[in-house]
Amino acid sequence: MRCIVLFLLFSALILPASPTGAETKIKAVATIPDLADMTRHIGGDLVEVTNIATGVEDIHAVPMKPSFAILLNRADVVILMGLEAEHAFLPALLEAARNPKILRDAAGYIDCSVYITPLEVPTRIDRALGDIHPMGNPHYNLDPVEGKKAARAIADGLTRNYPEYAATFKKNLEAYLAQLDAAIVRWEQEAAPLRGVKLVSYHPDMIYFAERFGMDAVGTIEIRAGVDPTPGHIADLEERMRKEKVDLVVRELHYPAGLAETVAQATGAKLVELPAMSGGLPDTKDYISFIDHNIRTTLNAVQSGARAAADPNSDQSGYQRPGS
Ligand SMILES: [Zn+2]
Repeated sequence: MRCIVLFLLFSALILPASPTGAETKIKAVATIPDLADMTRHIGGDLVEVTNIATGVEDIHAVPMKPSFAILLNRADVVILMGLEAEHAFLPALLEAARNPKILRDAAGYIDCSVYITPLEVPTRIDRALGDIHPMGNPHYNLDPVEGKKAARAIADGLTRNYPEYAATFKKNLEAYLAQLDAAIVRWEQEAAPLRGVKLVSYHPDMIYFAERFGMDAVGTIEIRAGVDPTPGHIADLEERMRKEKVDLVVRELHYPAGLAETVAQATGAKLVELPAMSGGLPDTKDYISFIDHNIRTTLNAVQSGARAAADPNSDQSGYQRPGS
């Protein structure tokens, strides 16, 4: 009997405490639902995951609430896109949260961009012009192959903080990557008709998606990331779109509809409305269904017929400043 008691005591000392209730789970706060979903797959029962954005917001302008600072105050790790994508809310929330475990450079600050090679890294001149992608384009979550790199960064970040669960995180990561790999094979086949399709988006957030599936992102309604269009910019864009026979105008769901519609009508392009992160629509509840939705919606637009004839009566006269 004494041996058994000693054995149990010894086991309790050397085995990591296994989280059993909500109080003992690793508290992870992800900035967007895509990363929350990945963290649930990788952390499994060991983590309790919350997300700040719900999926309908502009990642560059997520409204701050006091409840987010409380969440972060209690968090063990924060999981973010990085590349300054969350510049509008995360630094201020971290300051308010007063939690040294998750400050930038602390172990609990899990930046999912660490394995990403950013596209469109701006020059110093672009930064001076108000570009809100100062570290390069942060919208890599729209490309599932880049998504795999984010998942790996989450597994590595959790392991750095909780090395006692390294084997579990590794096993769960491998299972999730296998799911993503199978989906990627399917997506690459399904998306074959997108090769060579030219698109203009409202914000420069389609570049990783476009490159993955062989599309050509030729311009944006914004002058540059975060800089509202002017009538002159729209006139130049429309002229270039007619000349280059641009097939699609992508309106990300958090941008105003009117101007994207006007540009599509004026140039004969099809309008397609896409979310820029998961969680904002009933059929984009997780990361895989979000990528599914975007491929299916883009394919539907491309396959629903040839480009419409450009409307000669529609030009920038219908232009209104966003929000006006
Ligand atoms: Zn952006």
